[in-house]
Amino acid sequence: MNVYERISKQVAQLVPIFPYDDAGAVVPCAAIMWGGREHGHYFHWNTVSEVVVCWGSNEAMLTTGQIMATQKYHGVNSFLKDETNPDAYVMVTVTQRQSTEAGQREAMVAKCQGCKKEMLRHEYAAGPHGAPDFDPERFGRADDVFRQFSTQVGSSEFADMRNSDEGRTCSECGYVNAPLPIDPWNWGRQVQQTRLVNSGFHAMRVLAEKAGA
Ligand SMILES: [Zn+2]
Repeated sequence: MNVYERISKQVAQLVPIFPYDDAGAVVPCAAIMWGGREHGHYFHWNTVSEVVVCWGSNEAMLTTGQIMATQKYHGVNSFLKDETNPDAYVMVTVTQRQSTEAGQREAMVAKCQGCKKEMLRHEYAAGPHGAPDFDPERFGRADDVFRQFSTQVGSSEFADMRNSDEGRTCSECGYVNAPLPIDPWNWGRQVQQTRLVNSGFHAMRVLAEKAGA
């Protein structure tokens, strides 16, 4: 396993690079950004600590080899100095340690581009498999073998809410916000692929049981 190989093939941001996300597990998730497109901006709140390692960059806010601990509540954007620069890029892992106790939660927050006030907050329970508050049906079927990563699902749900007519319109000032660009983040695609992989695996299992009967 090589972090660069994994990043080269991933189709969304924050994909766990190992298949282990149980309570107590250390979960490195990869992200890669590049310039020449818009990324938008949002905020992320996480009860568990995150450590960012930059594996390579050019004209980015993080330099190659840099290690940084994030605040529990932090802004997220492209992390490029100028996202219109097509030569700018940054590749990172964001590593979190899964809680062994109840209460692991995350939130995605959008602030109004007009009045700068918080206009949407999507908070969700993210208790991992093995934690007392793990909900086996929150992100899929209880017997799914390939678990969804909570941040991927929560972020995908946030993007859908954020880009709805209601989610784009600030309740404070009425400003209609530009949509959050989806392509640079692409969480929904990763969630859908994981959902379909589980469906395919279940179908194959049913077939195998029939063949064995
Ligand atoms: Zn507003």
